[in-house]
Amino acid sequence: MEMIATSRLVPMKEMLEKAKKEKYAVGQFNINSFQWAEAMLEAAEEERSPIIVASSDRLVDYLGGFKTIATMVNRIVEEKKITVPVALHLDHGKSVERCKEAIDAGYTSVMIDGSHYSIEENIAMTKEVTDYARLHGVTVEAEVGTVGGNEDGLIGGINYADPQECLRLVQETEIDALAAALGSVHGPYQGEPKLGFAEMKEISELTNVPLVLHGGSGIPLHQIHQAIEFGHAKINVNTECLQAWAKAVRNVLDNDKEVYDARTILTPGKEAVKETVREKIRDFKSSNKA
Ligand SMILES: [Zn+2]
Repeated sequence: MEMIATSRLVPMKEMLEKAKKEKYAVGQFNINSFQWAEAMLEAAEEERSPIIVASSDRLVDYLGGFKTIATMVNRIVEEKKITVPVALHLDHGKSVERCKEAIDAGYTSVMIDGSHYSIEENIAMTKEVTDYARLHGVTVEAEVGTVGGNEDGLIGGINYADPQECLRLVQETEIDALAAALGSVHGPYQGEPKLGFAEMKEISELTNVPLVLHGGSGIPLHQIHQAIEFGHAKINVNTECLQAWAKAVRNVLDNDKEVYDARTILTPGKEAVKETVREKIRDFKSSNKA
């Protein structure tokens, strides 16, 4: 196994435990190009906030593979002299093998998504990942229930997490963070999101691990703050960054039919991602928590 000589990335375990205790959430932001990683890291540094930079398993090949991603994010942290805590996370890892590959490449955190299997299979998969991750000091997130909507081709109907299944998963696998699906969706919401706050409180008290809110884009601020109050220490954002990026890039192209210089076209997209991340960091109350 070939490791990166000096990793500047940290696991997210301590980040999340501190956030849970102090009642704020650390944002997870998914990269869709390396320029996005720069935008996120600049925003986090300026806000003095910890940050979780993630790649969705479905985008890993598009981005050049696990080793490319881990190396690039490490080098950007170094080149930009980023001093706030940065975790590199695999979002919705499809299999035990994929999680191991990410860990070997230098990811400091992985999510094993066994939510589409029976709870027994989910526990077995997750346990294999936690056993491997522990040897490398890597943090593990797992999911119970299913988040609705569509993200990068990952499609699901809303399926509420069962509190007893959550407890079993946490106890039998010793995961560090739990994504309990409670009505959130990937992609844009149709109308006001309806999160199951009673179930959320119950699961948080029962399991006592930091909770993760998937589909964090488009949730009203009062619901975000309620979710943090009820044990969420990590909130995932992707759709809002994509929408802001697309709007900015489309604007450049619409305003100048002759433009072809990539930097001119893409720089406003990067700035839009940075501003979105900054806004989320403030919404999640993680500014000055680095
Ligand atoms: Zn998700």
